[in-house]
Amino acid sequence: MFFFFVGGVNQQVRQVLKSGAGRCINCGSRADLVEYEKVLKLFFVPVWRWPAKDPAMYCNNCNLFFPPEFSTTRPRESLPPPPPDALRCRFCDRDVEPEFSFCPYCGSAL
Ligand SMILES: [Zn+2]
Ligand SMILES: [Zn+2]
Repeated sequence: MFFFFVGGVNQQVRQVLKSGAGRCINCGSRADLVEYEKVLKLFFVPVWRWPAKDPAMYCNNCNLFFPPEFSTTRPRESLPPPPPDALRCRFCDRDVEPEFSFCPYCGSAL
């Protein structure tokens, strides 16, 4: 392990809430649901630490923290539907707002 900075904010696991709760978005191995805290370090000495508000997923393999909703084992039905396709001007072939009745680029009626 190399250190490139003498100071900075690190994240570290405080407590494992659920082991193997999801998959790592980076390497695909098992990730744990954890409570973590942020630690401000100065010259490798922790000078300040504060708990994070929400639990996060943590991968032991690549030391990655990521939000639980990124985990692939969760159903993704809470995602909003994709925006409707933008209208395309048939004269100049540019995307225009669907509520426009005239193309702002070439002035053609849509
Ligand atoms: Zn990983
Ligand atoms: Zn046009």
